[in-house]
Amino acid sequence: MNEIPKNTPDHKFKSGQRFNYRKRGNIRVLHKPTQPSVTRGVNPVKPNYSTNNKTQTNNKKPSRGSYQYNNAKGNRRPKVDNQVVQTKITYQKDKVNLIPPPEKGVIRIIPLGGAEEIGKNMTAIEIGNDIIVVDAGMQFKTEDTPGIDYIIPNTTYLEERKDKVRAMIITHGHLDHIGGVPLVMSRIGNPPLYSRNLSVLMLKKRQEEFPHLPPLKAEVVEINSVIYAGDIRIRFFGVTHTFPDSLGIVIETPYGSIVTPGDYKLDQINGIPTKDEEKEYAFFDKEKVLLLMTDSTNVENEGFALPEIYVHQGLEKLIKQVSGRIIISAFASSITRLMKIVEIAESLGKKVALDGRSLKTNMEVCEQAGIFKPKKGTIIPVEDADKYPPNKVLVMMTGAQGEEFAALSRAANKTHKKFSIRSGDTIILSSSIVPGNEIAVQHLKDNLSRHGVRIISYRTSEEYIHATGHGNQEDIKWLHKKTHPKFFIPIHGWHSMLVKHKELAMSWGMSESNIVVPDNGSIIEITNNGEKISARKERAPSGPMMVDGFSVGDEQDVVIRDRVMLAQDGMFVLIATIDSISGKLRKSPDIISRGFIYLKENQELLHQVRLIIKKTVEDETQGMNPINFDSIKTALGDNISKFLFQKTAKRPIVIPVLLSI
Ligand SMILES: [Zn+2]
Ligand SMILES: [Zn+2]
Repeated sequence: MNEIPKNTPDHKFKSGQRFNYRKRGNIRVLHKPTQPSVTRGVNPVKPNYSTNNKTQTNNKKPSRGSYQYNNAKGNRRPKVDNQVVQTKITYQKDKVNLIPPPEKGVIRIIPLGGAEEIGKNMTAIEIGNDIIVVDAGMQFKTEDTPGIDYIIPNTTYLEERKDKVRAMIITHGHLDHIGGVPLVMSRIGNPPLYSRNLSVLMLKKRQEEFPHLPPLKAEVVEINSVIYAGDIRIRFFGVTHTFPDSLGIVIETPYGSIVTPGDYKLDQINGIPTKDEEKEYAFFDKEKVLLLMTDSTNVENEGFALPEIYVHQGLEKLIKQVSGRIIISAFASSITRLMKIVEIAESLGKKVALDGRSLKTNMEVCEQAGIFKPKKGTIIPVEDADKYPPNKVLVMMTGAQGEEFAALSRAANKTHKKFSIRSGDTIILSSSIVPGNEIAVQHLKDNLSRHGVRIISYRTSEEYIHATGHGNQEDIKWLHKKTHPKFFIPIHGWHSMLVKHKELAMSWGMSESNIVVPDNGSIIEITNNGEKISARKERAPSGPMMVDGFSVGDEQDVVIRDRVMLAQDGMFVLIATIDSISGKLRKSPDIISRGFIYLKENQELLHQVRLIIKKTVEDETQGMNPINFDSIKTALGDNISKFLFQKTAKRPIVIPVLLSI
């Protein structure tokens, strides 16, 4: 009876599964079944890695089911049927399989995330029969990946060598270092995980969001711990960062050690680190450092990074000065500062209300770790803030980046159910603006201004109210000098930052041949008994793994591309009923458009579309026996896409649906 499209637009449904039809007004609306993706579910269907793709198909050219007009120069919509994607992955996988294990005495380093970007940090180190992984971060979606929840590093290289992965070591509990852990660990065979107590508690908290995954095998280490991962001996040291208990890592090799401090800055005044910090780094005076891999986030900023102590002093001064109610919004990740603010408020006899999920979670974990010890009764629920005189309460909220659903944004636009901003409040935005968030922050400030409040922000404040957690050029230089490495790989930053970091290292005396600027997936090797560093020609797969609802995979290019296209030019669905004997149209085709043109005002265009459908079907089915629906669909898609482009200069995704009677 009905011919159901074999390949729906994003191949989400098994063939034979039906669309649900529902009436909406006079328009028939197609509804996809609401269940999550079937073929790309939590266990996505593994592509078949045979080199000869044709042998796996059911002899039919797969029809994608949607069409879009390509103009001669643009070719905006590359051919992206499932087969092509499989071919691409096959190629990558085969390539990986061709990469031999490192030879005896060779040290291999593979940055799998955090190069070419800020976020989703992950680096693998492979020596002999052992692989250790440092960090597994996540990154939030970007404009290029609409609808994606977040992105994790590509783990293919590690998945292929699961039995060699001996340990996951986490430098600290920020999301760009731990956010990918739950999903990554289950893909790489759940090796033991090591980090300091606070990070481990953060990780366990995050793991709770994935109850279907096996629990972490997490072990707490301290800065004087020594662990073995296979034959590799690993030591640690403490570094200063906005996350307390951040951990630097020393991996011993026969030719010297590989050092990565994670995110760090110096706790210095006038360029002189504190005694504690000097003590922490003192062992480097005698350490033979073969390779340094380090953060490039702030490599473009001159001087030293502002020490956090100045921010604590600035905030204390403001909190004392301001007479009315104070609302402070900071990154939930600025943990040291958040704890300090509570301490200051408490010393001034103020109650503190915490609002925002990430903020509350982080403070809870700190309390659990025993590093945050507010007095009983200091912390109050945000709905109780109004019960205290304005000068007796301080509110801490998330949302300084103007995030749509964060506490401060909701309070600013009056959609917060438990808290309202009042005229006379002082709002301190204790954070910088993350690039890309400028407009959102501006909207936030505008909305706040309408409440008659005073806003103190990072750029305009006379007091220091924010400092970065990453070292500037001088902090970085200090670390280079202190660790005096033989080789250097800049990591954690956009490509231009990594290049800048390389140039700086050269200006401090390193030779160019001792530095490799990596991309994600670069396979870098130290060879010749620790005398030479270079990148191999082959690359490990590095395409981002997108987490989209219940699916995880690097095979979702098609879905994402469709979303981008839909957002730009919309979609155009035509439903034609065809007599399976005569090949004639049985009635006037139904047409549905979304985000393309307003149908009611374009009756003439629709009329012409119907004529083209009729003519196309008649032309195609002339003398055809039996009727080949796939070829009719292809012809309809091509003709209608072309026509719509000529008439409107837009390229909606065209989806022909044929029903046969
Ligand atoms: Zn960090
Ligand atoms: Zn980081």
